[in-house]
Amino acid sequence: MKAAVLYGANQVEIRNVPTPTLAQEGEVIADVEFVGVCKTDQQLTVAGLDEERILGHEVVCQLPEEQGYFALNNEISCGQCSYCQEGLTSHCQNLQELGVNHDGGYAQKIRVPRNSLHRFDYRNPALGVLIEPLSCAVRGVERILAAATLLSVSRPTILVIGGGLSGALISYLLTHSLNFDGEIKLYDLTKASIPWAVKLGIERLEEPEQDKAHLVIECSGSPSGLATALQVVRKAGIVCIYGVPKAGISLPISPHELFMREIAVLTSFAGATDQTMGKAIKHIKDDEAFFEQLLGRVIPLEKLPNELTCWCPQAGTRTVVDIGA
Ligand SMILES: [Zn+2]
Ligand SMILES: [Zn+2]
Repeated sequence: MKAAVLYGANQVEIRNVPTPTLAQEGEVIADVEFVGVCKTDQQLTVAGLDEERILGHEVVCQLPEEQGYFALNNEISCGQCSYCQEGLTSHCQNLQELGVNHDGGYAQKIRVPRNSLHRFDYRNPALGVLIEPLSCAVRGVERILAAATLLSVSRPTILVIGGGLSGALISYLLTHSLNFDGEIKLYDLTKASIPWAVKLGIERLEEPEQDKAHLVIECSGSPSGLATALQVVRKAGIVCIYGVPKAGISLPISPHELFMREIAVLTSFAGATDQTMGKAIKHIKDDEAFFEQLLGRVIPLEKLPNELTCWCPQAGTRTVVDIGA
């Protein structure tokens, strides 16, 4: 079968590789239809891995024996360790992540546990690539809303930094949450237009305002975004690190300043569970038109190596690989 193989730092190529065979009970070989190109894929590509790997974790597939489309929860947890017992399956001590430390979806076929597949039914099945990232955002917003009870106001001002897909999904969930009442503003470094923010009626700032936001959600994953978040948040406010920070950078603020300004720092790491996948599937079903605008360019597998090494998605959208194209 055709697959995009990462074989070194910044080295990806299309190869003919053996089709996966069933290894364990409960596994199936699925036909991959669409895969989202995530910033995590780009970061793994730049860094390279110790072994050759097929990346791709935002996967839509079909099964030869069953009707319909399925979204993959790429995190396979053991169910036994103390974290799994607490329901924190993303922190499983024996976690396997398809498309990260096991082969993923940038191929014609993928081997997956049957119970990691979640059926959905949308007019446009490519929308299914948003289910995994939205599932992570569901967890993020649950943590943000729980933390927001620490704030001194019931209608907080929120600043979202970064207008990419993460910023879009977090903002969407907040504006559609019954438990949230407040104002969201967006700051994005680029000058590119960001249609999703217009659709949600979110004001876009030219410059981040100092001392205005009670809660700042950093969605860009950039060192400058994180520095801005910590700089502008109000005293006794919260900074949520949602965009994955680069490995090796430090928090650009001293513990003394954190303490004196009484800033709470919150993070949210992935979090696709059966429950969050189910919620994500329903959100998209309820509002396909909104999520449709988050789909960016659709490319064939052959164009993926260039996409991963150049990294130039259309602002505020997810690039999709159409495996059958
Ligand atoms: Zn991702
Ligand atoms: Zn476990």
